[in-house]
Amino acid sequence: MVVKDELATEVSSKVLDGKAVAAAVRARLKDAVGQAVAAGQRAPGLAVILVGDDGASAIYVQNKVKACKQVGIESSFHKFPADATQAEVIDCLQSLNADPKVDGILVQLPLPKHISSEAVLEVLSSGKDVDGLTTLSMGLLLAGKNGLVPCTPMGIIELLDHYKVEIEGKKAVVIGRSNLVGKPIALLLMQRNATVTVCHSRTQGLDEICRDADILVVAAGRRHFVKGSWIKPGAVVIDVGIHHTKLDDGTSNISGDVEYAEAQKHASRITPVPGGVGPMTIAMLLSNTMKAYSDHIAHTAS
Ligand code: NAD
Repeated sequence: MVVKDELATEVSSKVLDGKAVAAAVRARLKDAVGQAVAAGQRAPGLAVILVGDDGASAIYVQNKVKACKQVGIESSFHKFPADATQAEVIDCLQSLNADPKVDGILVQLPLPKHISSEAVLEVLSSGKDVDGLTTLSMGLLLAGKNGLVPCTPMGIIELLDHYKVEIEGKKAVVIGRSNLVGKPIALLLMQRNATVTVCHSRTQGLDEICRDADILVVAAGRRHFVKGSWIKPGAVVIDVGIHHTKLDDGTSNISGDVEYAEAQKHASRITPVPGGVGPMTIAMLLSNTMKAYSDHIAHTAS
């Protein structure tokens, strides 16, 4: 299947190039894994659980497994049919929790409707929670303590830092309040001393609130929802959305939550879709696996 890039192929100077930054992160991790293995340690391990036949989830999982291989992380893939029971998935999780060679466990969401993702995630050992979605991981983030942080928000901060975008003292607006993106990115921006406004589906006057944002993070899950006219001149725009649209000629197009062509006229910096937040999310999954691995090795040694 051919995927057309919604953007022109050239990378303008305003673009926050997630593809390039993610490649640099992966190179750093590959070095670190190589050094650990050369010193006689085992390789880090990530286990991925996928339930059902959702096409997008299967592609995300393939990409994650491929990325692990590139940096030397051992991955194992645990695939269940769509009618698998919650007990079967939990059994698998418990054996992965107990496996000393598994440092990180990822349960690809969404799960089929008959399985409670809440119940499944609560079984996951928090030391292996590389998606940062268990209650304990979320609590540690809220308290500003050391834990595993969700990958997409962490990738956004890494990207802002790479491009030396000043966060402290800035007005940040986050559209979306999910546990996966909206809430954790709001907390991370607050930890970095931004003044954060969180907007959601019941927020009134959203366009006006956006026009006040120095940093605008959009994770609404609605294609081209944020208009160019909502962007404050000079703002930094982070587009988390991913939307696949099938075109008449059989190809498909990937776009985000922001009307990119108009928004980039006003923004000082902007993430493209694809090539912005998406690659950073995968890079941070590898980074979290490495963190969990280092913690496990240190714990075993002590
Ligand atoms: P979600 O559906 O869980 O949350 C969407 C949020 O947007 C909700 O909190 C809702 O209140 C808010 N919202 C919906 N409609 C709104 C409106 N009209 N006005 C204001 N707020 C509104 O989605 P999510 O898991 O947070 O993901 C958001 C988007 O990001 C999706 O498109 C998803 O595919 C994408 N995503 C991308 C990556 C990546 O790596 N790039 C990672 C995770 C999610």
